[in-house]
Amino acid sequence: MMPVDFHFREKIPVGILGATGAVGQKFVQLLSSHPWFCVKALAASERSAGKSYREAVNWLMPAPLSIEMGNMPVLPCVPNLPCSIVFSALDASVAGEIEKSFAEAGYIVISNSRNFRTDPAVPLLIPEINIAHLDLLHYQPFGKGKIVTNPNCSVCGLALSLKPLDDQFGVEEVHVVTMQAISGAGYPGVASLDILDNVIPFISGEEEKVENEPLKIFGVLKDKAIENRTIKISAHCNRVPVSDGHLECVSVKLKGNPSREEIIECWNQFSALPQAWRLPMAPVRPLHYFHDEAYPQAKRHRELDKGMGVAIGRLRKCPLMDFKYVILSHNTIRGAAGGTILIAETMVKKGFVYW
Ligand code: NAP
Repeated sequence: MMPVDFHFREKIPVGILGATGAVGQKFVQLLSSHPWFCVKALAASERSAGKSYREAVNWLMPAPLSIEMGNMPVLPCVPNLPCSIVFSALDASVAGEIEKSFAEAGYIVISNSRNFRTDPAVPLLIPEINIAHLDLLHYQPFGKGKIVTNPNCSVCGLALSLKPLDDQFGVEEVHVVTMQAISGAGYPGVASLDILDNVIPFISGEEEKVENEPLKIFGVLKDKAIENRTIKISAHCNRVPVSDGHLECVSVKLKGNPSREEIIECWNQFSALPQAWRLPMAPVRPLHYFHDEAYPQAKRHRELDKGMGVAIGRLRKCPLMDFKYVILSHNTIRGAAGGTILIAETMVKKGFVYW
């Protein structure tokens, strides 16, 4: 087996676990024209296995399902798929066992599910922030395979907005109120009678994830383990009647004392290795500041930079902390399928993918 270089003639074969769900469909959409990866297997539950993908899926993406993808058979989630990488969009109730079985069989598993995010041997990766954590893969206990996880969808935008502030001014405390889209609950998700004309001030397990995952992401790899950061984070998470795109109101306490202009400048200038390497799924700029005081908005900004950009606005002084601002990021792209594909591209570039 040879490490992949950037002149490979054949695309890398990949599979999607949970291909019929909200995130799985987004994978199918994003990977159908990917320059490096080629979808060779679509897998889901026993309810869907044996059907064609067209029969099994309730296709919700804006572009039509391609004939080629629609004709593919849906396979059960057992580790005999004809690929080397599997993207997991499995329901968390089953993801743990299935992902572990794939890793033990030698697959690279890149997951959106929560099951392995807190495992000390598993990177919780946002490629613009903590690529160095991929070195954990040298010490993983999953046999020949590897597991890497993508953070919670609300954490992706939040952590990206905090990264340049932390690098330049030091982040001490964060208070965040999320307004999360319905697609974040999967398909069919929240019943229409519950969410229409309503806001639900509770998403099970979400506040714990938003308060804890950034501590691992901003942690430092030392002696084969990640030492978590000690940033204090308080989160309120709400479900709102928006189809896609999570809006988050953030207050932040910094160690330094920057001006408003310095903060906006550091967001707009922020760039990292995925941008330098021009990875296919990387946004040209991860963070975009909008000066219109009514921005960002889910409807207007969720597709920013292929859905991988984070829109920021309304930076102003906070009477309780130092500054407050608003972010908007696409939950099934930056916060799920797109972020996970960017992890795979990063792993290819770093030489972790063999096929
Ligand atoms: P979803 O729409 O409910 O899809 C779940 C998928 O899991 C379906 O393909 C389903 O297949 C499959 N599945 C369920 N039970 C299974 C079983 N016993 N064996 C094999 N496959 C099974 O959920 P989703 O929103 O796409 O989320 C997928 C994962 O990503 C979850 O862990 C979620 O927390 C995480 N996530 C979601 C988002 C988001 O914005 N939606 C963002 C970040 C992370 P069938 O169709 O055959 O039942």
